[in-house]
Amino acid sequence: MITTTGLTKVYRSRGREVTALDGVDLHVREGEVYGVVGRSGAGKSTLIRCVNLLERPSSGTVTVDGRDLTALTGRGPGILPGGSRAGAALRQARSHIGMVFQHFNLLSSRTVQDNVELPLEILGVSGRERSRKALELLDLVGLADKAKAYPAQLSGGQKQRVGIARALAGDPKVLLSDEATSALDPETTRSILQLLRDLNRQLGLTVLLITHEMDVIKSVCDSAALMKGGRIVESGTVSDILATPGSELADELFPVGGEASGPDRTVVDLTFHGEAATQPVISQLSRTYNIDISILGAAMDTVGGRQVGRMRIELPGRFEENVVPIGFLREHGLQVDVAGPEAAVELAKEGAK
Ligand code: ADP
Ligand code: MG
Repeated sequence: MITTTGLTKVYRSRGREVTALDGVDLHVREGEVYGVVGRSGAGKSTLIRCVNLLERPSSGTVTVDGRDLTALTGRGPGILPGGSRAGAALRQARSHIGMVFQHFNLLSSRTVQDNVELPLEILGVSGRERSRKALELLDLVGLADKAKAYPAQLSGGQKQRVGIARALAGDPKVLLSDEATSALDPETTRSILQLLRDLNRQLGLTVLLITHEMDVIKSVCDSAALMKGGRIVESGTVSDILATPGSELADELFPVGGEASGPDRTVVDLTFHGEAATQPVISQLSRTYNIDISILGAAMDTVGGRQVGRMRIELPGRFEENVVPIGFLREHGLQVDVAGPEAAVELAKEGAK
């Protein structure tokens, strides 16, 4: 649904150049919720603004729903679909992409309903149809009773619901969200994420969202990417990421912690999906080889409706002495990553091949 190839954005201001995007290849499949994470300044906002051409890329292409937006003429920036001086073709294409902002960007002088109607006004939809559509959307986001209220009378969560209703006005296939929950408390965050997930399911909406919260990725995303210095350094479905040895994103999603208790110890991270029974495998291992195993840390969570767990355990003896027990764990279907001294990790990778 969304593809970028070699997307690059260089900002030039006062003689200085900042490369905000450095050759980003992004692939978001139709109907998925795709999360982009990364530190402040990584280029996340620039990426999302380039996807709907609020920002014109310096090079590379952006294709949304089969249309190459970079080939369409027009100039940004503009806040709402068609709010800029963009050419008609670009304006048209953009109206099928909804955008939700961290600070809601509602017009304080307009009622809730009039805020939702705004993009429809710009698209030239008639008054009656606008009103019908706006009320339908407010109902969809659970705010049917607030149509005549003004933004100042709403809570943060309600404002964001208005922002989402407005983003849906043009019947988009794609919803872009830049830190939509960052200004909200945890409980409101959960309800807004649930709403995005429901819209994704009900309307088949493809959602590309930016966040700096790992919990957001865990609770709603099918796929995720980690950005650093204008590049995507890791990406994939959340389950694939968790199954990738040495994945930084997996460690951030499921920090298991725990240090080796001594030099002659081997620390091993286990990842398992679904109902894989880790505990019995570990006690079998302990009995079979007559070794004491310590659990240093564990984390369990639900990702995209599936249970995923990680556990860090410690085996007595150096890695070389634990080749057989590690093989036993792998044979029993667990993903095994050896943590600790680099030489051991390298050896373990060789062993995994
Ligand atoms: P993020 O959303 O991940 O925090 P941004 O995309 O906002 O990152 O910014 C990426 C980099 O581009 C930063 O170094 C930022 O300072 C720079 N940048 C963003 N917008 C502009 C701009 N309009 N002019 C100049 N530099 C910018
Ligand atoms: Mg940002």
